Amino acid sequence: MKCTKCGEEMRPGYVMVPVGSVVGWYDQEERKRAITSGFGGEMLLEPGMLRALYAEAYRCGNCRLVTFKY
Ligand SMILES: [Zn+2]
Repeated sequence: MKCTKCGEEMRPGYVMVPVGSVVGWYDQEERKRAITSGFGGEMLLEPGMLRALYAEAYRCGNCRLVTFKY
């Protein structure tokens, strides 16, 4: 996969987070709400039956950009 920013070939790998964690997406309003209430956002990776959460990802070392599908 080519980097959308610089065009270099991206390195395949995984984004992983510890058990009990989630990866969420927040727009600006949802971020403010989440800070004050602890709720909101869209969960991209949620806990499953695995020891750790992971998603296949591609990383560009030039741009420090990581792309993953949720
Ligand atoms: Zn790049």
